[in-house]
Amino acid sequence: MAQAEVIDGKAFSENLVKMVAVEAKSIEVAIGRAPALAVVLVGEHPASAVYVRNKIERTTAAGMRSIEHRLPTTIDQATLLTLIAEMNADDAVDGILVQLPLPDQIDEDAVINAIAPEKDVDGFHVVNAGLLATGQQSLVPCTPYGCLLLLRDQLGSLSGLNAVVVGRSNIVGKPMAQLLLRESCTVTIAHSRTKDLPAACANADILVAAVGRPEMITGDHVKQGATVIDVGINRVPAPERGEGKFRLTGDVDYASAAEKAGAITPVPGGVGPMTIGCLLRNTAVAAARRFNVSIGDI
Ligand code: NDP
Repeated sequence: MAQAEVIDGKAFSENLVKMVAVEAKSIEVAIGRAPALAVVLVGEHPASAVYVRNKIERTTAAGMRSIEHRLPTTIDQATLLTLIAEMNADDAVDGILVQLPLPDQIDEDAVINAIAPEKDVDGFHVVNAGLLATGQQSLVPCTPYGCLLLLRDQLGSLSGLNAVVVGRSNIVGKPMAQLLLRESCTVTIAHSRTKDLPAACANADILVAAVGRPEMITGDHVKQGATVIDVGINRVPAPERGEGKFRLTGDVDYASAAEKAGAITPVPGGVGPMTIGCLLRNTAVAAARRFNVSIGDI
């Protein structure tokens, strides 16, 4: 059986971060300071702590300033909103990221929508979602933005291709579909109520899986030669590695999908590294737009 080409998101992201570091330097020369990203972590969620540590390290490595706010799980919404208002007003902060999920006493939408849209480097604010949906300039959610960069690199023009996005979350599925539509794909969004998922995927030149269910998308969903983007990051038990051990796997059953796909992203090493690369890029974009520095488009 033919095996799909592996799309190397790790290598792509390393190049992206190098490019962002050059942009950050030119912004620093223009405005007299490096672009700054403020990250807010509420509570002790272990995965969130790892993501935040990684973001901080990569921000600094790209020559940008990292500002960190660690808050207790018990924090109330008003205190968090006050912090966001202060960062919105602080001219030395270019990007604001509040790590999700937040504790139950906090309304996530209220927090996201309190961030100034021009500093919303996650691209989750309702204004940025609306700008994207209406084809206007916005800050684009990092994970779908990363998927798009990989797809463009792999396929060149996406115009006229059939794209199926499995998943309709506000942070991945919906913005992914908007971006593909903007590239002139014919887009289908599938979700948990889709009646016949293999049939919905059968004609997909591009298949994006963002379901949060380990290895749910198999070769049966993949059209011969399709490009498969696996957004999923799932921690599943790996007894073969020892008692209590885990491994990371995607939403795609790699082995069966790779037999039919033309190209496919692995997990890990596919979409995951792109998310952080795009976060850094969004921070540079936010700083450049706020201070009218030209850094070009990608
Ligand atoms: P959500 O749980 O918010 O959304 C999952 C979506 O999948 C929903 O729209 C749901 O449909 C749909 N779905 C669930 N079950 C099925 C099914 N059986 N058939 C078809 N559709 C189904 O997840 P996210 O969008 O936040 O994340 C998706 C995946 O991407 C996760 O594995 C997550 O870990 C990963 N992720 C990876 C990132 C990265 O950096 N690589 C960043 C963000 C997420 P419905 O709406 O009907 O319930």
